Amino acid sequence: MPRIVTGACIGKKHGDCAEVCPTECFFDLGDMLVINPDDCIDCAACEDACPENAIFADDESDAKWIKINAEADFGSLKQIFSKDDIVR
Ligand code: SF4
Ligand code: SF4
Repeated sequence: MPRIVTGACIGKKHGDCAEVCPTECFFDLGDMLVINPDDCIDCAACEDACPENAIFADDESDAKWIKINAEADFGSLKQIFSKDDIVR
């Protein structure tokens, strides 16, 4: 069960989440980051680090955001490892 980035991330993109992720799950969708559910170990470190409270467990997230994270084309998106990787 992965964590999910939701709409509160739109326009924010701090990157605190990516800095603490042990399995490098974060990708840049353009106006927000998303989590690759295949790599997420559901440790919740990113949820605690996010200043916008944008990250939730999937059973606490709307289907819309679960779909946006799960169906992102991770092969073509930029992977985000730290704040320095984020382009605005
Ligand atoms: S810390 Fe929160 S708001 Fe910032 S990029 Fe990560 S999920 Fe988005
Ligand atoms: S829950 Fe843990 S493994 Fe999953 S994206 Fe967040 S920090 Fe990474």
